[in-house]
Order: sequence, then structure tokens, then C-alpha cells
Amino acid sequence: MFKELQLPFLELPTSAETLREEVREFIKEELSSMSFTVQCDSWLGGYDPEFSRKLGERGWLGMNFPKKYGGHERSALERFVVTEELLAAGAPVAAHWIADRQTGPLLLKFGTEEQKQKYLPKYAKGEWFVAIGLSEPNSGSDLASVSTKAEKMDDGWKINGSKIWTSGAHRAHQMIVFCRTAPRTEDRRAGFSQFMVDLSTPGVTIRPIRLMNGEHHFNEVIFEDVEVSDDMVIGNLGNGWHQTMSDLAYERSGPERFLSTFPLLKEFIRVIGENPDRSVRVAIGNLITRLWTLRRMSLGVAGLLEKGESSDIAAALVKDLGTQFEKDVTETLRLLLSTTPSLNSDSRFEVLMAEAILHAPGFTLRGGATEILRGIIARGLGVR
Ligand SMILES: Cc1cc2nc3c(=O)[nH]c(=O)nc-3n(C[C@H](O)[C@H](O)[C@H](O)COP(=O)(O)OP(=O)(O)OC[C@H]3O[C@@H](n4cnc5c(N)ncnc54)[C@H](O)[C@@H]3O)c2cc1C
Repeated sequence: MFKELQLPFLELPTSAETLREEVREFIKEELSSMSFTVQCDSWLGGYDPEFSRKLGERGWLGMNFPKKYGGHERSALERFVVTEELLAAGAPVAAHWIADRQTGPLLLKFGTEEQKQKYLPKYAKGEWFVAIGLSEPNSGSDLASVSTKAEKMDDGWKINGSKIWTSGAHRAHQMIVFCRTAPRTEDRRAGFSQFMVDLSTPGVTIRPIRLMNGEHHFNEVIFEDVEVSDDMVIGNLGNGWHQTMSDLAYERSGPERFLSTFPLLKEFIRVIGENPDRSVRVAIGNLITRLWTLRRMSLGVAGLLEKGESSDIAAALVKDLGTQFEKDVTETLRLLLSTTPSLNSDSRFEVLMAEAILHAPGFTLRGGATEILRGIIARGLGVR
């Protein structure tokens, strides 16, 4: 029997639209003082701690955290507006992205009181950055095959193993490490736990993995007898699988899953001017229609998350359709306007096109590969 997937149709409250104007004004000021350069995929490549700190100062990080942990108790829809405006502007948000989007909600759900008091205020100020340690050289889509392990010692834990493709680990203060704490049994998902590991701990080695032009965004991170104290375990021992999966709706449904190439689309529309020929208008109309649908879906998931309702399948759908869209923007615009993509070009369009081409292979992989997402969606809808 097929199941129906329903997403609420949300109107943004007036408070969110007022906030949008404030964010736009801030971005305008930052651009006019040349504090940042507009870029594609700025939530991976746009590292700027000073910019993150400014957002923290304005109350635009940790927006949903309780005030007692340095947060602002604002709604998921208000946070949505801030993130979509920053991404659409190609602003440098990579430094704080994981802490604000994912680790904060994780700690709020599973962290100890001490962990919440110690870390959430730092995330909300934009001064403490986090990396996600899930993937390993032999474990990507099949996370249950992860082999990094933590062994109990008299006082704390000792971690050995390696993680790969860890975005921003070379600049983060901390990594959330997913690893085995009990031997494998018939239930492949049992026996995992999550640890907060300070990346300056002895025994941690971080090696760059570069894009073909030399850009450095992700890494291999090796753990050799890394000692971690008991108070750095997140949630319950052995509950790592469940805790990690509960993060995924936050990770997969936000506007970063369809706006990575938006700065390119915006620049294209500026370059072609007000009266492009019909074929160009049709192509852009198609892209904008898809974009608007994705945005409505993503807002719907934000609404479900706010109410604490299950949204994993809808989030997987947003991620699958959204990342295909991001790639299609690049391919469509390449065919519409003859261009020589180059990071050194004087043309903004050519620079943004080069960034989009360089980053596009990762869009449909990071956060769960297309085939895996489609399996989740099919199972969730009862067609598999
Ligand atoms: C830009 C970028 C940033 C990343 N950042 C991080 C990070 O910060 N932290 C982190 O932990 N990881 C990160 N990753 C890793 C990412 O999560 C993995 O690349 C992803 O989960 C896929 O794993 P894999 O690369 O091992 O590919 P594999 O799992 O080997 O998959 C290769 C291909 O086979 C397909 N496939 C695999 N299994 C099946 C199956 N059962 N059925 C059908 N098809 C299948 C996949 O869909 C994919 O197309 C990042 C990746 C990228 C590209």
C-alpha cells in the first residue's frame, strides 16, 4: 500500500519578513565595505570567522537555542529566512555552519547539562566550529560498517581509526566522532556512540584532500590513541546510530540543499539584462519554478521540525531534488551563455561558473548519495 507524503504549506510570519529586511540590509552593508566576495557553495568554501562572529553578535546564530544557553528562542521559520538570505547572497557561512545547523540541536536533544552550558553559548557567538566525523575510507553510504573504535579505559576513552571527507576539520575546534564502543553483533547498527573530540588533542592528525585547483575544504582525519574524557560522550553509550539518524532531517532539508549555485543564477540574470530572447526566458522560468517548489518543500520540513514531527522522508526528498537542481543550474546556464569558466577571470559570471563546476560533483554525494536517498524515500512511501 502506497503512503502519501504531506507537507504543510506555510506562510512566513510578519516577524520573519521584518527579519529578512534586516538581513538584506546587513548583507548590503557588508558588500559595500567589501567584507566578503559573493561565492557559490559558500557553506562549504566560505570560511570567515569574523563574519560568523558578526552574525553571532546580531543574534543570527543559535536562533532556536534557549536563552539560558546563549540562544535567542526564535522560530525555525525565522532561522530559515536568515539562512536562505545568507546563502542566496553567497555569504561566507562555512565556519559556523555545522555547529549552528546540527551540533546545537544534537546537544539540545541528547547533551548533558554541562555540555549544553559549555558549548551552546560558543556556537551562538560564532566562535566555536565543529566538523562531522561519520565517513571513513571504507564506509560512506554504509555507515554501519564504520570501524573507528573507542575503548574504555579506567579514566575516559581511547579512540583509534580514521575519518575521511571531513569538511572544515582543518579549521574546526571539535569533531563529532561516530564510532564503535561495543563489538559488532547481528544488529549491525548497535554498539555505536558519539564523542565530542577536541581536534587539538594529541594523536589527531589532519591531512588535506584538495580539489583539482588546490582548494582545501575537506580532510582525512586520523586518530591514534586519542584520549577523550567520559564527559565528552554525547547522549547514551550505544545509542549513536539513533542519535546520528535524528540529525539527518536538519542536515538534508535546509536551503543549502538547493541554493549552492544560486549566486550563479542571480549573476546570469543580471548579465543577460531585461529582455533576453524567448528560449532563455523559458529556461530561466523552468529553473525558478523548480526553485520555488523546493523552497516551499523545505519550508514545510522546517515547519514539521518546529512541531517535533517526523520529517526524514520529506527531508530526503528535498535533498535529492534540491541537489539535482543545483547541478542543473550549472549545466543549463553553461549552454545558454558561451563562457570560459575561470577563477581568475574579470567576469563575475565566469568566476561563479568555475566555482559551481568545481564544487558540483559533491552536491549529490555529501549528506547522503542520491541512490541511498531514493531508497529511503521509496521505503518510506511503501513502494520498496
Ligand atoms: C563535498 C563533500 C563534503 C563531505 N563532508 C563530509 C563531512 O563533513 N563529514 C563526513 O563524515 N562525510 C562527509 N562527506 C562524505 C559523504 O557523506 C560521502 O561521500 C557519502 O556518504 C557517500 O559515501 P562514499 O563517498 O563512501 O561513497 P559510496 O558509499 O562508496 O558510494 C559510491 C556510489 O555508490 C552508490 N551506492 C552505495 N551504496 C549503494 C547501495 N546500497 N545501493 C545503490 N547505490 C549505492 C552511492 O549512491 C554512490 O553513488 C562529504 C562528501 C563530499 C562530497
